Amino acid sequence: MSQLTVKDHNRDAIGFKYIYPVISRRSGGLSIGINFNTNNACNWACVYCQVPDLSIGAAPEVDLELLAKELSEFLNDVLQGDFYDRFEMEQDQRVIKDIAISGNGEPTSVKDFHAAIKVIIECVEAAKIPSDFQYVLITNGSLMHKTEVQKGLQLFNQYKGQVWFKVDSATESGRKLINQTAISTRQQRDNLMLSANLCATWVQTCVLNYSGHENDSLLSSVEQTAYLDLLEDISERAKLEGVMLYSVARPSLQAQASEISSVKEEQLEEVAEKIRLLGLQVKVSV
Ligand code: SF4
Repeated sequence: MSQLTVKDHNRDAIGFKYIYPVISRRSGGLSIGINFNTNNACNWACVYCQVPDLSIGAAPEVDLELLAKELSEFLNDVLQGDFYDRFEMEQDQRVIKDIAISGNGEPTSVKDFHAAIKVIIECVEAAKIPSDFQYVLITNGSLMHKTEVQKGLQLFNQYKGQVWFKVDSATESGRKLINQTAISTRQQRDNLMLSANLCATWVQTCVLNYSGHENDSLLSSVEQTAYLDLLEDISERAKLEGVMLYSVARPSLQAQASEISSVKEEQLEEVAEKIRLLGLQVKVSV
């Protein structure tokens, strides 16, 4: 049977619509991914995005019954079936590390976000996973102002869920360039505050080289100042869990791919040190 690797994030590995397995480099075990964006649509268009045929838009309506069926079946296959054997997973990786809502687009754009979170939590809790796992929502944070999203996060928080909130730039020009979004600095700040107040929130930041745009990189002083100012402001008024700094591990699937490259670990560490001076925990991965 096929073997899943850290490089293999093939969302079709088990043939389900919403559920996909990933052996997570970050977590060191099995990550159960949940994809609402079956249409590969996102409201942003990050230049490093690894979603194929990315289009601008929202997730389609989610079939809650099918979501529940797939998640329950998959959990049963992992916990009682022969999933680990079929996918030839290493013994020390045979543990569910996280249930990650992380799709081919922005997951909070799904209309029934709260209902979908409820279904996920019901299925997962019913499965009685024996290991210490983590619920994670990976989001660009741009729709935090929606009541439906906030309701979903309140529920997520009751089960110790974490939000991984994307902040690649704290300037309007930086976000326009890297994320191709016109979201304002005020809105970004408000959304991050909302998230931090609703649920345990990690800021996740991709630092990259974008050929011809060196002055807009997070390694430039203007970008760094704005970024550190945002983190300081939020952490003075709310609790942030910390910051995950990373670079581009896999090739972008967007038109800008040839202009994008990874930064060096030392460069990430330099930024990390400045964040640590604000009293925040930082995890670095290239
Ligand atoms: S927010 Fe995520 S899914 Fe959307 S374009 Fe950016 S990297 Fe891709």
